[in-house]
Amino acid sequence: MPTESTFLLAGLFLLLAAAGWALGRFGERDEMEAPPPLNIDYLKGLNFLLNEQTDQALEHFLKMVRVDDKTIETHFALGSLFRRRGEVDRAIRIHQNIIARPDLAAEQRDQALYSLARDYQKAGLLDRAEKLFVRLSQGSRHQVEALENLCRIYEQEKDWDKAIAVGKQLEVLGGRSLALQIAHYYSELAEAAAAEGDYDSARQYVKNAQTGRPRTLRGALVRAHIAQETDDSKTALKLYHRIIDEHTYLIAEALPEIVVIYERENQMGELDKAFTKMLSKNPEMNSLVAYTAIVNDIGGIPVIDECVEQYMLNEPTLAEFVDLQQISAGDGEALAKIRRALSKLAAQSPRYQCQECGFSSQRLLWQCPSCRSWETQRPAQRVQFDTLLQHSITS
Ligand SMILES: [Zn+2]
Repeated sequence: MPTESTFLLAGLFLLLAAAGWALGRFGERDEMEAPPPLNIDYLKGLNFLLNEQTDQALEHFLKMVRVDDKTIETHFALGSLFRRRGEVDRAIRIHQNIIARPDLAAEQRDQALYSLARDYQKAGLLDRAEKLFVRLSQGSRHQVEALENLCRIYEQEKDWDKAIAVGKQLEVLGGRSLALQIAHYYSELAEAAAAEGDYDSARQYVKNAQTGRPRTLRGALVRAHIAQETDDSKTALKLYHRIIDEHTYLIAEALPEIVVIYERENQMGELDKAFTKMLSKNPEMNSLVAYTAIVNDIGGIPVIDECVEQYMLNEPTLAEFVDLQQISAGDGEALAKIRRALSKLAAQSPRYQCQECGFSSQRLLWQCPSCRSWETQRPAQRVQFDTLLQHSITS
């Protein structure tokens, strides 16, 4: 099957013929040789295309049409088209061909270097891409874009120190605040330090995150986690409750930890009181609390069990299979069975979804891998029966 690129190149060859370009140029190349009635190089190129030898046809095209002021835009357009189509090797070939031109204007050289860096980035050759972007970020028309791409590379490589440095440079040059993004870079460092038990460094990173963004949620979660690990239950609970107060959706992350702490402190009565108060203030949180309890298999706490029961009674898909009203009248064992089944089903369906692009995942991701937005994921509030049914039909 001829690819779109084959058609593209064929179109360019035809354009060359129509414009009399190829004939004119080859006349220039060798004045002594009389031009043939139909240029042989042009025919060769077409022949490659007809045999679907796109790479040879491209090489041929590059030899025929030398880069000059009249043709440079065509070369750039062709290169970016190849890159967008994922044919990165060909894009690289074209952009290297432009750079090889000795008398290239500085602006065009920068554009070619930037395009080549994007090719490398797309090809996963991050070291090469980084080198070029660093060079362009030190003074060129593509300074801001180069810094933006460097941020992406450092995020991908999890090189948070470099990401912070570039992010700060970008704030100055781009004239916009990247406080949220930079707070996450620091939080990444804080989480890594906390995971290694280096709590002093972790606390310092959280402080750094908070200088740009005082009430950073993720930083508060790291601090709560450190407090929990260092047996400072009081601080940990204070932080978790503050996190939920400010962003109710984070109950999905905080609930299992809160239960562990109250259990450890042997204060289950206090937990019941705190949640009764919280739910009377925010009744819309009931289903999220229930769903989180189901997913994490949390039970035996009256206020949470009540949420779970209400959730099951109000679940329309479930009602199609069992008469829950009748069961709840007295069959605790049957309810527990349904709850266990729901827990298994919930474990198979995505728990979080990005509000920007719809990307879903099992665990909370602070940066969406699909659209790269920060803090846009929200937890599911119900078992996704539709997704599960679809999955079982297609698998
Ligand atoms: Zn997204």
